Amino acid sequence: MKYFDAHCHIQFAQYDEDRDAVVAAMRDAEVGGLIVGTDSTHSQKAVALADGVTTFAAVGLHPNDKPGEGYNDAFFAALAKDPKVVAIGECGLDYFRPEEPEQEKARQKEVFRKHIALAVENDKPLMIHARPSKGSMDAYLDAYEMLKEVQQTHGEKVRGNMHFYVGYIETTKKFLEIGFTFSFTAVLTFARDYDEVVRYIPLTRILSETDAPYVAPAPNRGKRNDPLAVQAVVKAIAEIRGEEEEVVREAVLGNARRVFRLP
Ligand SMILES: [Zn+2]
Repeated sequence: MKYFDAHCHIQFAQYDEDRDAVVAAMRDAEVGGLIVGTDSTHSQKAVALADGVTTFAAVGLHPNDKPGEGYNDAFFAALAKDPKVVAIGECGLDYFRPEEPEQEKARQKEVFRKHIALAVENDKPLMIHARPSKGSMDAYLDAYEMLKEVQQTHGEKVRGNMHFYVGYIETTKKFLEIGFTFSFTAVLTFARDYDEVVRYIPLTRILSETDAPYVAPAPNRGKRNDPLAVQAVVKAIAEIRGEEEEVVREAVLGNARRVFRLP
């Protein structure tokens, strides 16, 4: 592998027509990937699609993409044991919709707590989706408090990555303190809002991701994305930080191997 896309959804229906070609292109470009589940069906599909060599799976229930689906303990407990599953998620807190009722926040916290317990039980990292309400860092702060609390009992078994990271320096400090990594998407190719944070985080704590099929890089904005775009993400990280692209590529790949304990 030369690159690792730490968060993609190539099991989604958007790839039903040409999934084999996408996987073949990843192999040709030496791009590995973590295929992330968002509900029970897509978690199962992620495990089935992963080869356990350069592609792996994460299993979990997205905080609000599937409001109709409750968290099924037995289902995820069984799936999490699969050796191709290298992370638990995506899970977390999403407060983006305005005036999120307190009841919904409580529900999300309850489901997130179950994911944290599953990660601890299996000694696997968490893949965290945290999206604050507009003009606030609320979802990050709540997630941090929950993780820190469980960490007091379970130590390094509570670890993981902040996916699609959009936090400020102050929140970044908190997640650095509890040992988490941060992954960035191709948003870095067209928005300058995150440059300061990208420069602030030590290189050992950064991962590259695409969140494909979402957020294609600058020239392809609005089109379906794919994991090959992780190359553009690494290039953007290097440019923003003013570091050699090759140095960044190698470091970020090494970080993914360490965090997800890849073979
Ligand atoms: Zn995602």
